[in-house]
Amino acid sequence: MAVAETDLTASDVVWDLAPLLPAPDDEGLAALLEQASARAEELAAFHGRVAEFDSAQLAAFVEGLAEIHEFIGRAGSYVGLDFAADTTDPARGPRMQRVEEQATQISTKLLFFELEWAELPDEQADALLADDRLAFARHHLRSARRYRPHLLTEPEEVVLTEKSVTGRSAWQRLFEEQVSTIEVTLDGAPAPLEAGLARLHAPDREIRRAAADAVTAALAPGLRTRAFVMNTLLADKATDDRLRHYASWIADRNLSNEASDESVAALVDAVRRRYSIPQRWYALKAKLLGLDRIADFDRMASVADVDSPIGWHAARDLVLDAYGSFSGELADTARKFFDGAWIDAPARPGKRPGAFCAYTVPSHHPYVLLNWTARRRDVLTLAHELGHGLHAYLAREQGVFHQSTPLTLAETASVFGETVTFGRLLGEVTDAQERLALLASNLEDQIATVFRQIAMNRFEDAIHNARRNEGELSVDRIAEFWVETQHDMLGEAVEITDGYRTWWSYIPHFIGTPGYVYAYAYGQLLALSVYAQYEARGSGFVPQYLDLLRAGGSMAPEELGKVVDVDLADPEFWDRGLDIIERRLDETVAAAKSAGRLS
Ligand SMILES: [Zn+2]
Repeated sequence: MAVAETDLTASDVVWDLAPLLPAPDDEGLAALLEQASARAEELAAFHGRVAEFDSAQLAAFVEGLAEIHEFIGRAGSYVGLDFAADTTDPARGPRMQRVEEQATQISTKLLFFELEWAELPDEQADALLADDRLAFARHHLRSARRYRPHLLTEPEEVVLTEKSVTGRSAWQRLFEEQVSTIEVTLDGAPAPLEAGLARLHAPDREIRRAAADAVTAALAPGLRTRAFVMNTLLADKATDDRLRHYASWIADRNLSNEASDESVAALVDAVRRRYSIPQRWYALKAKLLGLDRIADFDRMASVADVDSPIGWHAARDLVLDAYGSFSGELADTARKFFDGAWIDAPARPGKRPGAFCAYTVPSHHPYVLLNWTARRRDVLTLAHELGHGLHAYLAREQGVFHQSTPLTLAETASVFGETVTFGRLLGEVTDAQERLALLASNLEDQIATVFRQIAMNRFEDAIHNARRNEGELSVDRIAEFWVETQHDMLGEAVEITDGYRTWWSYIPHFIGTPGYVYAYAYGQLLALSVYAQYEARGSGFVPQYLDLLRAGGSMAPEELGKVVDVDLADPEFWDRGLDIIERRLDETVAAAKSAGRLS
């Protein structure tokens, strides 16, 4: 059955951002920022007096902070989302920058609060937090004190914050600008780096090899500059960590994730112990592609090119159906996203690539951005981002300080919804090749999220420690660490070509958010283990799961885990999620056999 053109493009599925503002456009933005600024002025009068607060005064002050967050959050969400919808509009970028700068000015005035709050003795803070008027911010305020041993004096903090604009942030921006100008030559014409990387999915090996060569060639100019930026930021972090007394390069990231150093080390070990999963898959993939052994540039190759398009309405029904099979309440909430213009679906020129969900503010509702291309994996992306949206929506009662979950739990609802939807999607596919393709692409997503990110974490671990022990790292030395840590994960199953040695040099996370990448694996495996609970217990699990979503970030991760009987301290905890991935690998092998692709 043919699918109508608008149903394929979803061209009429656009969001309505206007309700974020009290008045249209600039007038509304100005009003919000004025309100935020006026309120910040009032609160700034308490500079130096936080230690004298009783619990009523503290509650009033923190409510004031919440109001400011609300004003700034509405303005920031509006300009950020509006920019994402069209990054080439010359008016939108500067407007976003202007709002961000004003917001930073406002929050700088209130920097004293966290510092003074962290300075209070534990007994005094505990006594204040015991008051139920502070329940709405209790976990937030308690966890804000976790940086206590690492904070410097207020004048030192002010200097660091102000100088970071021309220090770390400037280096990060230079890297971003360098990477965004990288041009790949494809078919004799210049193209963006993404276009080169996208060709690695091509079924034809020669196209993949040529694309990989083009990417390698494109990464050569400026490589030493990017390596210098990397070195500078590695050294900058070493200085910060020394001044702030962090025991290791990853310790501040773990603290910000509210994850213990032990749980992160256990995660890394558990994933490394199962490196056999990607190795088994890539050995099988070589057979599917008719090769003795695949090379790094073959890893993304599609194993079957049989993706029949799916219309927006069919996708919507499938996702709502999947959520409905689990919980009527979730399906009803998900429907609001479609009926209320909370989604911007079509892929348009100038629109930000990829997909995301924006929480905005608790008094409003979340938005979802997609780049819909009517592929089956787009259906999973829709289910994934709706999962984030449902989490945000159910947790909005928690208010601004507790709506967002810690990073490590942020993927729970998205991966859960995606997994339920995947089951439905798989159930609908009757063609053996298509079934294999769907399973293989899901397995590869899991490998990319869990194994690839842990291998990248090992790379980060190696370069941070080496910069501290060996001094500045040459381009070659960085490449050695990159190849070594990739080889650990891929084993003999994948040939790492010479060209691949520089492919660390465009990845933004190493520069922008050091230590971040393990959180992908952490979140994915945590979410899969929550899903394993549902598999084991069926519908009896649903009320607990909804409680978990409603709790947002009002508790520490271990406490949130307990809401659904997940024990993060259990040394075997990580294996439950890894077992699900291994099972997906087994299913993929079975599907390859049914499709007649393996003897
Ligand atoms: Zn996500």
